[in-house]
Amino acid sequence: MSKKKTTPAQVNFATDWSYAPAPESKDHVRLQNRYELFIGGKFTTPKSGRYFDTINPGTEKKLAEVAEANDEDVNIAVVAARRAYENVWSIMPAAERGKYIYRIARAIQERAREFSVIESMDGGKPIRESRDVDVPLAAAHFFYYAGWADKMDYVAPGKKVRPLGVAGQIIPWNFPLLMAAWKIAPAIAAGNTVVLKPAETTPLTALKLAEVMQEAGLPDGVVNIITGAGTTGAALVNHPGIRKIAFTGSTEVGKIIQRSIAGTEKKYTLELGGKAANIIFEDAAIDQAVEGIVNGIFFNQGHVCCAGSRLFVQESVADIVIRKLKDRMETLIVGDPLDKNTDIGAINSKEQLNKIRQYIKIGINEGGECYQSSCQLPSSGFFHRPVLFTNVAQSSRIVQEEIFGPVLAVQTFRTVEEAIEKANNIPYGLSGGVWTDKGSKIFKVTSQIRAGVIWANTYNKFDPTSPFGGYKESGVGREGGLHGVMPYVEVYS
Ligand code: NDP
Repeated sequence: MSKKKTTPAQVNFATDWSYAPAPESKDHVRLQNRYELFIGGKFTTPKSGRYFDTINPGTEKKLAEVAEANDEDVNIAVVAARRAYENVWSIMPAAERGKYIYRIARAIQERAREFSVIESMDGGKPIRESRDVDVPLAAAHFFYYAGWADKMDYVAPGKKVRPLGVAGQIIPWNFPLLMAAWKIAPAIAAGNTVVLKPAETTPLTALKLAEVMQEAGLPDGVVNIITGAGTTGAALVNHPGIRKIAFTGSTEVGKIIQRSIAGTEKKYTLELGGKAANIIFEDAAIDQAVEGIVNGIFFNQGHVCCAGSRLFVQESVADIVIRKLKDRMETLIVGDPLDKNTDIGAINSKEQLNKIRQYIKIGINEGGECYQSSCQLPSSGFFHRPVLFTNVAQSSRIVQEEIFGPVLAVQTFRTVEEAIEKANNIPYGLSGGVWTDKGSKIFKVTSQIRAGVIWANTYNKFDPTSPFGGYKESGVGREGGLHGVMPYVEVYS
């Protein structure tokens, strides 16, 4: 008797594999209707008299209105920071400065749930990421640099260092609280005072951080937080009282900043765009590598400067890697950022969503094969499915340009040399990933790829002790670790 052949049951992940909603409560979050500028230790109304809305990209609803700082407000903030620098902060015993910074770190931990929920509401990132990555890492940065405060003599062994004065710091919308921590913690540990401008679309956690500064009893004016758009950032960059600019954002604005401070004494660090190569060799642990690819590009909706947005797979394993990757993409849950099941939250703004859609059209017009997962998207809010492009050329725009969204461009290679050459053939040089069983291959590849950070058999690992920054159009200078404190001091003997 012949047995009837049956095909194995296929799981349709879009319909058969669902989780009950697990929304994080927002009952404990207290948002004001209106937020003022944080200058000289107090929330003050802007001289501009103007306010702008910040919305929840997951619902498109307004969360609060936020003050817009004009040139006069920027000047008041810089003057307050200078006063705090001269009269209090730079002359305080370093160990005392450290105590304040420890206090800030602990207060962030105490208010971690509140910070996580606000970060997800204002920026769109999944609560799992804001809860497990952004907020703990922000606290870790303050803890780490609190430890540096009284060890500045070891920054340049055998020499003396001193702080610079007032630092102007401008941060983007992809990691709002974490970027504020990256900027503020090393600056004030070294004895500087700061004026920080968060991005227009994500000001709320920085303003909550201002509340933490008050709670910690930080002397007035040591940290000032002014909100506004690009013009506010430009006013800060161009203010003559600023001694150092720390900027994270697009390469385009980084170049504007570099040009505008040329010929001044202002020091600067620029952490700009990226287009990282994530390289999978045939001897890699394929399932782990697939997880690494997913984490590399879909973490934080792909709004990550170091995202592994170019995937290079060795030809012999390309079919299996792409098949497994597509299967894995089908399981990713796109939706409510406050739901603990969500893997991919909301795109940060309508503009960014339009930019991503535009790039997908460009990729298709260039002849790329576009695959998107089949998941349902919420009916309101800015959402995008995870996307994978195959059949792309090294010259394709979606291979060369930073998209800053959940879009992966896949290419293949045959030899180690080819992988290195293709990985380096890009204007950026921020990060990269290599997946292989062979240690020697890791050393060869990592030493020949021009990127500030390269992960081996993992991706997107961050630690406050570890320097981060880029080459080429990805910027100059490093943040994190000893390297992160050096741009905030001058060596004088
Ligand atoms: P921008 O570089 O425009 O913004 C970064 C920060 O700089 C924001 O606070 C912004 O203010 C401020 N800013 C804007 N113009 C000026 C200026 N002339 N002088 C001083 N400060 C200024 O990035 P976008 O938010 O517009 O994002 C555009 C693209 O940049 C993204 O699609 C992505 O490719 C890239 N990007 C890269 C990031 C990275 O981490 N490397 C982070 C963010 C973006 P405001 O937001 O209020 O306009």
